[in-house]
Amino acid sequence: MTHHYDLLLIGAGHAHLGVLRRWALVERPPGRIALLSAGPVAWYSGMLPGLLAGRHSAADCQVELQTLCRAAKVELVISPVESLSAAQQQVQLDDGRTLDASWLSLNVGAQISAPPQQGEAMQLLAVKPFDRFLAGWQQWQAAPRPMAILGGGAAGSSWPWPWPARCHSWRCSAPAIYSMACRLGCVCARSATCANTA
Ligand SMILES: Cc1cc2nc3c(=O)[nH]c(=O)nc-3n(C[C@H](O)[C@H](O)[C@H](O)COP(=O)(O)OP(=O)(O)OC[C@H]3O[C@@H](n4cnc5c(N)ncnc54)[C@H](O)[C@@H]3O)c2cc1C
Repeated sequence: MTHHYDLLLIGAGHAHLGVLRRWALVERPPGRIALLSAGPVAWYSGMLPGLLAGRHSAADCQVELQTLCRAAKVELVISPVESLSAAQQQVQLDDGRTLDASWLSLNVGAQISAPPQQGEAMQLLAVKPFDRFLAGWQQWQAAPRPMAILGGGAAGSSWPWPWPARCHSWRCSAPAIYSMACRLGCVCARSATCANTA
């Protein structure tokens, strides 16, 4: 069975959250509109370092999509998008449903380009999707082992900030993070560039 929409917002990324918030405050455009989301909540990434440091709860960092969509008078469809056909103006959902739409807006974020994991000796944990990352983080906390952070983007550089008081050693791939960690008093194990090397 096919469902027709005037506009589909695919992905509960930051831009779509801003649009929905705006529509909750002012009158939204006419027509049948839905947000397609992989899950019932969206994560606010800027608060994740605080979540890892124990300063926020998971609920503090999540946006409840049902509440936001209801306020914006937009339908919420929960299922990852499997594929879309621009020619047929159709979207296939992971759960088997097909939706068709006159207009699509895509805000599905960026893909993580992590190197492939080789063997089981070292576990690789991508920071997105956040649900999977947090489950892996909790496992690591139960039995902490030496860790390296790969990548010095917004996540790689902000994520370890709250750690110095909690971690004895960590290592990352970006020299800027070594020096920032040293300023914060963290012990960087085996760092050739770090004056505070343990
Ligand atoms: C730990 C951390 C801290 C960060 N801190 C900052 C910061 O302080 N300041 C800053 O500017 N940036 C920060 N960033 C970067 C910021 O998170 C990203 O730049 C931003 O999230 C990108 O927004 P987006 O809307 O493009 O995508 P996202 O926020 O990644 O949203 C994409 C959405 O699309 C959904 N989606 C993906 N695929 C599908 C699919 N097939 N079907 C349905 N839904 C799908 C996802 O579930 C997600 O909800 C941080 C990132 C991390 C990881």
